[in-house]
Amino acid sequence: MSLASPGASDLWFLPLGGTGEIGMNLNLYGHDDRWLMVDCGVTFADHGSKDPHVQMADPAFIEGRREALCGLVLTHGHEDHLGAVAHLWPRLRCPVLCTPFAAAVLANKLREAGLQGKVPLTVLPPDSTFSLGPFQLRYLTMTHSLPEAQALVLTTAAGTVFHTGDWKLDGAPGLGTPPPESALRALGEAGIDALVGDSTNALTPGYSLSEGSLERDLAKLIQGAPGRVIITAFGSNIARLHLFARLAARFDRTPTLLGRSLRTMVQAAAASGYWDPERRYIDSRDAAYLPAEACLAVATGSQGDPGAALDRLSRNRHPDLLLEAGDRVIFSARAIPGNEPLIEALVERLKRLGVEVISDEDHQIHASGHPAQEELKTLYGWLKPELVVPTHGTPSHMRAHGQLAQRDCGIRALTGLNGDLFMLRPQAGVRRGWAPVGRLGVGPKGLVPIAAEGEDA
Ligand SMILES: [Zn+2]
Ligand SMILES: [Zn+2]
Repeated sequence: MSLASPGASDLWFLPLGGTGEIGMNLNLYGHDDRWLMVDCGVTFADHGSKDPHVQMADPAFIEGRREALCGLVLTHGHEDHLGAVAHLWPRLRCPVLCTPFAAAVLANKLREAGLQGKVPLTVLPPDSTFSLGPFQLRYLTMTHSLPEAQALVLTTAAGTVFHTGDWKLDGAPGLGTPPPESALRALGEAGIDALVGDSTNALTPGYSLSEGSLERDLAKLIQGAPGRVIITAFGSNIARLHLFARLAARFDRTPTLLGRSLRTMVQAAAASGYWDPERRYIDSRDAAYLPAEACLAVATGSQGDPGAALDRLSRNRHPDLLLEAGDRVIFSARAIPGNEPLIEALVERLKRLGVEVISDEDHQIHASGHPAQEELKTLYGWLKPELVVPTHGTPSHMRAHGQLAQRDCGIRALTGLNGDLFMLRPQAGVRRGWAPVGRLGVGPKGLVPIAAEGEDA
């Protein structure tokens, strides 16, 4: 297949992953015969699936023209944005740029893959400006559910794109600063040709909850607990890990972390200056000696993941801690679609132990990191882009996002899928199925292609 290359007056967007599913983001921008990659993440198959659990977008399109790839810019440290770098970099061999927190998360993965010191990694402060080939770039710190989530302003001779990355508008994010409204308004005044953005919560009316609004209910649930308190949450949410530690101190409980990924996230936060040394979690081996009413443990496994700390606790197979009747497990997290059966089985096992299980259905104990409909409208009012391209979503999320842009904001939307070529400038349009797409899975002997649904393997 011979595919054209972007000319000097073209500005193209080509998603290979993440536009058609939530996860495995892999985006390309094309201009003047060069390409720029934004994010390189993974997704996880259901635990019941016969396919490899860890999957990512097949980068064949850009691998075949990697001499034209100027670099890979990462927006933030979540798995769906950087989890595939250590797997795919050997096929790309390009410079990688990111902020300190993402670099600390990435460093672990590169070390495990034997790539430390081999990947040309440039660590930039948040809100930096830099350039790669014909692309002028500017990071802009947004609020999300981990430190240093960056939007990317991408300027070329052909036009300017605002790539939102993952974001929400949180006036009380717990850690970091509120959204940069005046900078965003100024960008809107200067003119944005296209916005490529997060569709995760485009089906959700209203506003996302603020991190700052979770303290009240969490405090009540910890204060009123008769026995141990176990809280399960996503480890990368450093603001929330601070909050749990602060509440533990307030209610005379000693906080501990159960699960390796929580410990590595706290280390990443400490390495990049986001950990308050006053907030110390003790070694979980020492938590066994605490009286039940003095224990507050934060555990991995909110999605029912087999082998994670909460799964082991529910089977009373954790080496450091045994649960008993009267203990309380708090889910400060929401089920990722597809994980419900595992979570239900986990909750059943906990209840059989006599443990009380608290979810976010009746309590304000979890906040999403993505924009609901009113936040989308607010941002688009500030930036006033000429064009919106929904990404980071399933087709129904992206359809809702596109309809909101057109109907409520009067902005033209181009919706499509991985492999579609979005021509942003000079003339907006889409070429469907322009580039080959697919998935690779992490098998025991390396990456293997995964047959698309409906295809026989
Ligand atoms: Zn994401
Ligand atoms: Zn994210």
